[in-house]
Amino acid sequence: MTPKHSSALRPCPLCGSDKKERYIDGRFGLENITPINDPSSIEFAWLKAHWGDEGKAAPRFPYAKCTGCEMIYAEVFPNDATLGALYAGLADNMEMIDESARSKTQLGYAHPLKSGVPSGGRYLEIGPDIGMFVHELKSIATLNQSNFTGYSFVEPNTAAHQALNDLPVNKPISISSDLSVDNVEGPFSMAILIHVLDHLAKPQEMLEGIAQKMLPDGKIMIVTHNQHSLIARLMGKFWPAYHAQHPQLYNKKTLKTALVSAGFGNVKIKSTRNHINLGGLLQMIGEVVGLRNLRFGILGKIQIAIPLGNILAIAQREH
Ligand SMILES: [Zn+2]
Repeated sequence: MTPKHSSALRPCPLCGSDKKERYIDGRFGLENITPINDPSSIEFAWLKAHWGDEGKAAPRFPYAKCTGCEMIYAEVFPNDATLGALYAGLADNMEMIDESARSKTQLGYAHPLKSGVPSGGRYLEIGPDIGMFVHELKSIATLNQSNFTGYSFVEPNTAAHQALNDLPVNKPISISSDLSVDNVEGPFSMAILIHVLDHLAKPQEMLEGIAQKMLPDGKIMIVTHNQHSLIARLMGKFWPAYHAQHPQLYNKKTLKTALVSAGFGNVKIKSTRNHINLGGLLQMIGEVVGLRNLRFGILGKIQIAIPLGNILAIAQREH
């Protein structure tokens, strides 16, 4: 039997309340979850074909704002079976994995960990792709003095597992494809989630699971989009992160609430600055206003550092 529309509505993924107001409308009729969860429907076929699209063709479920905790979240969201099928279509695309790994390296997210990486437990990373962040961590001096007892990775994309197994870390490596830490070996002294939390259907379950297996004073580092960033405010509903792949979008306030309610304290959150070619930025803006194939010549090659709409949080396990 097909589930009724109302039964598919999500409560707030942060505080569990169902009191909300409409924040941003869905795109391409993605207001009703029932046909999308039916693999034989035209809607499902369409969504599968467009799941990875960006810009004007990007799919979007309607977003609500929780009137309690102010979380911005997709009111309707596919069930696990549908989601699996949608992401399986993307996993075949190796080019995409390369691209996301490349952009991650450029970002230099390891820098804030220079002051110290906690030791004594395992290193956990959710969604590491091919392990670029481990390479980045190895490049900062403090990691050489730290002593993880092993490396645990949660990576649903099995195409990346071989690269993770081959990481030059000289410690036991374990890899799980299940998006959960329930069966992952602990305890952890460091947990990393880079552009992961805003993709999870149940983000609080993940954070609480990590906290439960974390050593006292263990550190968690999270990078997400910032729904309150200048670029998000300027672009409004055209902000690319309002995308069906993001069942919720955080800002500094809601990310802090999420960490504290999962059992973390000493939360520090800052906006990250990214280096980008001026041409790339103008092209992105051109896309929004409907101009394509813009040429900027030498001007477009100028490198500028701007807050591209990401936030980085570091917090400690409360004990
Ligand atoms: Zn809420």
